[in-house]
Amino acid sequence: MKPKIKKDIRSLSLENLRDFFTENQDQAFRGNQVYQWLWQKGIHNFEGMTNLSKSTRALLEAHFVINHIDIDQQQKSKDGTIKNAIKLHDNLVVESVLIPTATRTTACVSSQVGCSLDCKFCATSKIKRMRNLNADEIYDQVVAMDQQSRLCFDRPLSNIVFMGMGEPLMNYKNLINAIDKITQSEGLGMSPSRITVSTSGIPKMMMKMADDQVLFGLAVSLHSARQSLREQLMPFAEKFPLEDLAHAIKYWYKKTAKVVTYEYVVWKGINDDYQDINALVDFCKISPCKVNLIEYNPIGDDQFFQAEKDRIKAYETALEAERITVTIRRSRGKDIDAACGQLANKGERV
Ligand code: SAH
Repeated sequence: MKPKIKKDIRSLSLENLRDFFTENQDQAFRGNQVYQWLWQKGIHNFEGMTNLSKSTRALLEAHFVINHIDIDQQQKSKDGTIKNAIKLHDNLVVESVLIPTATRTTACVSSQVGCSLDCKFCATSKIKRMRNLNADEIYDQVVAMDQQSRLCFDRPLSNIVFMGMGEPLMNYKNLINAIDKITQSEGLGMSPSRITVSTSGIPKMMMKMADDQVLFGLAVSLHSARQSLREQLMPFAEKFPLEDLAHAIKYWYKKTAKVVTYEYVVWKGINDDYQDINALVDFCKISPCKVNLIEYNPIGDDQFFQAEKDRIKAYETALEAERITVTIRRSRGKDIDAACGQLANKGERV
């Protein structure tokens, strides 16, 4: 007889856990106790669930395992940024980054192992997508970095950005499930207004998010407001034209009243011309927005180079002239390949 494969108990909802106990002639509230151990106290074994009887713990042991992540390697940047290589239960590895500033500590979290998109300027796109992360694997990254933040910087995590490996909106169900646990009082109790989900721009899913009335922020990686150029930079954009993206952004604002943030890298000789600037300004007029001009983080090829300072200034001036909020974001953790678009498991041991 084949041995029974035990289920990961962390894939069960609170209702599932309560049902499990009633089906096993116990009381439903045991489900709440277990849920708290798993999500609030972050325990990784059944023995430690000390308010359960020995026989209840044995029952859980017989049916379930508790999968969890481990920090496999850590690298610290000169600027304080910490990059974690996170080992999953099946030995695959993703990366998460903790970024301290004077007033915040931000966790940059991964949503997939690798990425199925093909952004030409992003190191993660060179690793094919292997699988989606489960909700608990997304949640665990946040818990691990919250602990790291308390330990290293003496304060809890203040912000979360889904800008690590993968496309969060292609793993929507698990993303939402993880954010629920991050924000629930039975979980980490963080405010959703401190969370930003970044997408390469998948209109259908952005509209679903709006319909679901999510409370976190939305960032869209735009990089060009000219369809032909955007397709060259992000070939999947052929399937998701700017017109559809604009429609989804308007819909998002109508339903949530939240201002979208555009992430935009300016590359030398690629999108640093006035036609690019004008196209972005026009695109920004479609719906209330903010623009983050992000510094390019080299990924070791000879195609992409950061634009000259005066070109970035030209973008800033043109946007400000139209009263569009724009910030120039310096990258962090570049020396350890921990900056935006540099996550590619380079530190991984083989
Ligand atoms: N798939 C999601 C989230 C991951 S990428 C998305 O596309 O938004 C997080 C951000 O880093 C995106 O804005 C992405 O366009 C940007 N990025 C990717 N490669 C980069 C690089 N080499 N330098 C700077 N930013 C980069």
